[in-house]
Amino acid sequence: MKNRPSLPKEFEERMRNALGETFGDFVEALQLPSPTSIRINPRKKITTEGEPVAWSKFGKYLTERPVFTLDPVFHAGAYYSQEASSMFLEQAVIQSADLTQPLRVLDLCAAPGGKSTHLLSLLNEKSLLVANEVIQSRASILSENIQKWGHANVVVSNNDPENFSALPGFFDMIVADAPCSGEGLFRKDPEAVKEWSAANVDLCTKRQRRILADVWPALKTNGVLIYCTCTYNESENEENIQWLSEQHSVEPVKLNIPAEWNIETVSHGNIFGYRFYPHKTKGEGFFISVVRKTEHQPEVRAKQKQPLPAPPKKISEQLATWFQANPEFFMLHNRIHAMPAILSADIAYLMRQLKIIHAGTPVASVKHDKLIPEHGAALSVQLNHEAFQKLEVNKETALRYLRKEPIDPGSLPKGFALVVYENLSLGWVNVLDNRLNNLYPKEWRIRMNL
Ligand code: SAM
Repeated sequence: MKNRPSLPKEFEERMRNALGETFGDFVEALQLPSPTSIRINPRKKITTEGEPVAWSKFGKYLTERPVFTLDPVFHAGAYYSQEASSMFLEQAVIQSADLTQPLRVLDLCAAPGGKSTHLLSLLNEKSLLVANEVIQSRASILSENIQKWGHANVVVSNNDPENFSALPGFFDMIVADAPCSGEGLFRKDPEAVKEWSAANVDLCTKRQRRILADVWPALKTNGVLIYCTCTYNESENEENIQWLSEQHSVEPVKLNIPAEWNIETVSHGNIFGYRFYPHKTKGEGFFISVVRKTEHQPEVRAKQKQPLPAPPKKISEQLATWFQANPEFFMLHNRIHAMPAILSADIAYLMRQLKIIHAGTPVASVKHDKLIPEHGAALSVQLNHEAFQKLEVNKETALRYLRKEPIDPGSLPKGFALVVYENLSLGWVNVLDNRLNNLYPKEWRIRMNL
C-alpha cells in the first residue's frame, strides 16, 4: 500500500527466519487495513452489530472505522476502541484466576487504559484494581478513561515500578503490558516502523527485565503474573519470562486455546507464550505469557491504622442518595470520593504508599456549603439517575456539550442536571436563571472540528 514505510532490513530478516515460508503472507497482511474493533462496557448497556471477537465476550469487529471522537456514546464510556488481539488478556485472566474471589490486581503499565477497563469488566466488585502509569501526562488520560468506564473499585496511581517494592506480596495478579519495540503495530502505526532498530529492541528488553524485577516482590505466593507486549521478537517476550523463571520459582500457566483461533503457542524452556500474527488472526501483533509465583513471599498487611478522612456526616448522608449502592465517602485532593466500603482499608493503605491520581469515584466538592458534582459521578455505573433532573439531548447538542459550548437548558428549573444522550449520561450542567453552565471538564473537551 502507498505511504507505508518499507520494513527495516534487519527486522525483515529476523521475521523471515522466524516465519519461514509464511513470511510472504505476513508481509501481505501488513499491506491490508487494520481491522477495527471495540470492547463494550457491559455495565452501560448498548447494542452493537458486528462479528464477535472469539476470545472476548465483550469484543466486536466493526465493518468500518467510525470517527470515535464524534460519537457521544464513546465519551459516555459505553465502549472502548481496542485492537482485537490485546483483548486476549481476557483468556489469560479467566483461565488463571478464580474470579469469584476478591482479588487485588495491579495493571502496572496501564495508560491509556485498554487493559484496565477490560480488567474492571472481568473482576467482581469486591476486587480492587490498581491502574498505574509512570508518565504523569499519560496517567491523567488513564484517569479520564477509567472514570468514563464508571467503576468505583479502582485506584489510579502515577508511580515507577520500583515504588511497588513497598507493597510486598500485596497483589493476587499483576498485569505488565510492557513498553516495547512495537513490531506488532507496524500496520496501524507507521511511526513504529520508523522507530524500529535492533538497538531499541535490546534497550526495550533490558527495560522490561528491570520492570519485571522491580514489581516481582509485590506479587503474592500463588499470585499470577500476566506479561504482554505488542512485539514479535523472542528477546522481549519468551526470553524475558524464561529469564524471570531462572531468577525465581514460577510455574508456567498453559492456556486452553481452540486451534481455529490460529494463535501460535510458544513453548520456550519451561514457560509458555502465545503469539498473534496479522496473517493468522484478525488483529495486530501481540504476545502474552502467564506464570504463577511459587516461591515464598512475605506479605504486607494492609491494616487501617487511621480511617480515611471523611466528609461531615450530613454531607455523606446527602451523597448516599446519589448512588444505588451504599459506598463509603472520603476526602482526597480536597474532593469527596466514593468507594465500596469493603475496600477502605486497602485504599487507605495505598494512599500512604503510592502517588494517587484518583481513588474510587470522584463524587463532589464542597463550595460555600454547597455540593458541586464531579464529572466522575455522572459517569458512575452506580449513579442513581432518579436523584437528578435530566437534560435529554440529541447528537448535535451532545457534541456541543462535549466541546464545552453553551447549550439550551430548555424549561429545566435551576440547579444541577445530568446531560443524557440515548440513556447514557455524559456529564453535568448547572442551570441558572436564563442560561446554563456547561460543567464538562475543560481538559476532556472535544477539540476536533465537527
Ligand atoms: N496497558 C495499556 C493499554 O492497554 O491501554 C498500554 C500500555 S503501553 C504498551 C506501555 C505503557 O508503559 C505506556 O503507557 C508507557 O508510558 C509505560 N512505560 C514507559 N516506560 C515505562 C517504565 N520504565 N516503567 C513502566 N511503565 C513504563
